[in-house]
This record gives sequence, structure tokens and C-alpha cells, in this order.
Amino acid sequence: MSVKVCKFGGTSMADGNIISKVKRIIDSDSERKFIVVSAPGKRYSGDVKITDLLYHCHEQMMSEGDIEQGFGKIRERFTLIAKELNLKSDFSAVLDETMARIEREQSEDFTASRGEYLCARIVAEVLDAKFIDAEDVIFFKENGSLDGEKSYRAVAEALNGVTRAVLPGFYGTGADGKVKTFSRGGSDISGAIVARAVSATVYENWTDVSGFLACDPRIVECPKTIKNISYKELRELSYMGANVLHSESIFPVRKVNIPIQIKNTFRPDDEGTLILPTFRYVPSGNIVTGVAGKKNFTVIFIEKSHMNEEVGFMAEVLDVLSEEGVAVEHIPSGIDTMSLVIDSALLPDLKLNRVLERIKQAVAPDIIRVIENIALIATVGHGMSSSVGTSARLFNAIAAADINIKMIDQGSSELNIIVAVKNDDYEKCIKAIYCEFFGKAS
Ligand code: ASP
Repeated sequence: MSVKVCKFGGTSMADGNIISKVKRIIDSDSERKFIVVSAPGKRYSGDVKITDLLYHCHEQMMSEGDIEQGFGKIRERFTLIAKELNLKSDFSAVLDETMARIEREQSEDFTASRGEYLCARIVAEVLDAKFIDAEDVIFFKENGSLDGEKSYRAVAEALNGVTRAVLPGFYGTGADGKVKTFSRGGSDISGAIVARAVSATVYENWTDVSGFLACDPRIVECPKTIKNISYKELRELSYMGANVLHSESIFPVRKVNIPIQIKNTFRPDDEGTLILPTFRYVPSGNIVTGVAGKKNFTVIFIEKSHMNEEVGFMAEVLDVLSEEGVAVEHIPSGIDTMSLVIDSALLPDLKLNRVLERIKQAVAPDIIRVIENIALIATVGHGMSSSVGTSARLFNAIAAADINIKMIDQGSSELNIIVAVKNDDYEKCIKAIYCEFFGKAS
């Protein structure tokens, strides 16, 4: 039988009224059996997310030895939600127990995890579903990474024969037996783990937007929504800053080819975005799927005659960077040249000077130059490799906008072309590319 795992984000849990909407969404499809929830998010701009209140509560408890004040706001919010939903059970008892355990554990991760815990308890009651604590089924390894195999087994076992269940996202149990959280936004990962564990037909990720947009709406007004996207394209675009899903969340489901459907709780009839394994991917007809980028890179340009003949040249340069703990994002190269593209935040002045000195000593380049304030823009799409003239269109569009391209890097997957431009040209360049491949911005 088909099973859907649905994860609802913080804005879908913000108040009782919205949780009732979520209930209608779940009730409208009998395949929506397993639900993962985030902690209640903001109700309006300027409101504070429950998770942020919990971090604050922990801080106050540690510095002032007082929990009452910090927990008071959390109690207020959940009491209101319970009232809005007419919960039959006495939720104040659950809140009392929770506060007492926060005091006992004295752990930041434990405190932060209680937003999801309390929310899942409420949603389970509203849906008349079984509550399964993530603490009992999601596990981390000694090094802090997810223990996938152990978690998939435990989740599958706990859900075996269960018709409807609700699990809190964002946390599990660490190797030391204590509650441990993922990084922020990690409920997306929890949802993916549950989807993988029960071999779901689809992992529905319900949020407050109708899917991925083809480009940043702060740059192009009302860009098109991407209907279909492959995991690979998504990886490229999210790495470049397109943010809807936690970037780690695709790994559990990608391995077993479970599609992810991004849906909007506030517009449930909107199609959203379907994320598919590459072999099942149906192109939308567009050559380009999306455009995304990031500002603030530093390029170290190195030139040396006959670099290509010098065995180990690149390795020596990269050794310097690895010894300095600096990650390199891209390495476009020519016969006698190579460029290292690095996130500027990793190279404060002193460190940059030291890196340059060490590279000079290691490989004695003819020229070494630094170009700062560089933005990278990736144009991504499976359609690009098979369609003649795509790069010509891309570069012409950028030239027509009077933008100087500092560097070009075509990913070896032929899935993307990355151009580097000045930070100041970033927005203009994204607009020019969007207009070329998607028509005029509306
Ligand atoms: N509530 C957590 C956060 O605010 C996790 C999540 O929303 O996925 O980061």
C-alpha cells in the first residue's frame, strides 16, 4: 500500500487555527499516515519562534538559575494552542513535566528539542494518532553524525502495524544516551529518515511557500515556480543559497529514490515542486531549471609557465590550503594557470597573507594575484547539456547587460555553468540570466 510521510514546518504549526488546517490536509488523503512536525514558528513578522524562546530559556536557566521566567512564554504559547484546539487532555500537566525535565537535564539540546516534543504531543491528540518519541527511534553516532541504519530500523519497527503516527522532528538520542538535536531546520532531516524507514511512496514537505522558485524573489519579482527538479539540480541550487529544505535532508531519501514533494499548507491545491531522482526526472520543457548564487568570494589566481608539466603542482597548492583549514569551492584551471575560489569569510586578512606566502614558497609561481568581492552565479538544468547554444545565450545575455565575467566554470556534470562576476553586478546578472531563459520577469 502507498504510504506518504508528511513533515509540517514551523509556520504550519504556528497556532491552533493553522493546525486545524493541517488536520484537514492529512484527513483528505488516507495515505498520509506518518507525520513529522517542527516546533511552532512565527505567527506574524516580529513574533518569536518557539525554538528561539527555548534557546533563550536555556541561557537564562544557566546564567541566572531561573527557569520560570523563560519557560513562562513557552507555557503561554502552548496553552493557547491547546485551548484553540479544544484539547481534552490536561496539557498543563505535560508542560509541568517538561519544565521539570528541562531543569534536571540542564542541556541546551534537550531544552531546544522540547518545541517539537510538545507540538507532536498536541498534533497526535488532534489527529487521534500514536505519538512516537524521536528519542526512542532516531540515533546519532559517536562523531555526532546520524546513525542512519540504526534509526531506519528503529523507526520501521516502531511504525510497523501503526495506522497513523506523529513524531517530533529535529532531535534524537546521541551516543551518550542524551537527547541531541540536528542543526537548525533539522526536522526536514527527521522527515526524510521516517520516509526512508517506511519506504514511503513520497516524502511530502509542507511549508509556507508553493515550492522552489527559479530564482531569488528578492531579485526578480514573482519568478516561476519549479514544478520538477532532480536531486542533483536541487543540490546545486541549494548549495548556491536557494533555501526551502535543509540541505542534508535529501540524503536519506535520495539513496532509495523516494521523491520529495514540496507543498504549501496555506495553498494546498498548488502543485508545488516535485524533487525526483535523475532517472525519473521529467524535464519541464525549460532548458534551465533555476538560477542561484552567492556573494563574497575571494579568488587566488596563480600563473606559472609549464605548470601543466610540473608533477604535483596543484597538490602542493591544495596542501597549503588544507593545512590552513581553508575549503576551496572551485578550481578552474588552464595550461599555465589555476584559480582558487574561496569563501571570503575563511580568509581574513592575516590568514590570506599567510596563505599567499606559503603558496609562493611551495610552488614559486610567476604571478599570484588576489581578486576580492566576487559573486558566483550558477545556472542549473539537465536540459543544458543537450541543447546547442545554451552557453552562447547565457554569455550574450550577460554581455548585453554590460557585465564583465571574471571567470567561467562548467561543472563536469554538465548540469551547471558557474560564472563569477563582481559583487556589485550580482543582482543585475541574475536578472539578465533569468530574463534570457524564462522570459521577462513579471
Ligand atoms: N525548530 C527547529 C528550528 O527552528 C527545527 C526545525 O524547525 O526544523 O530550527
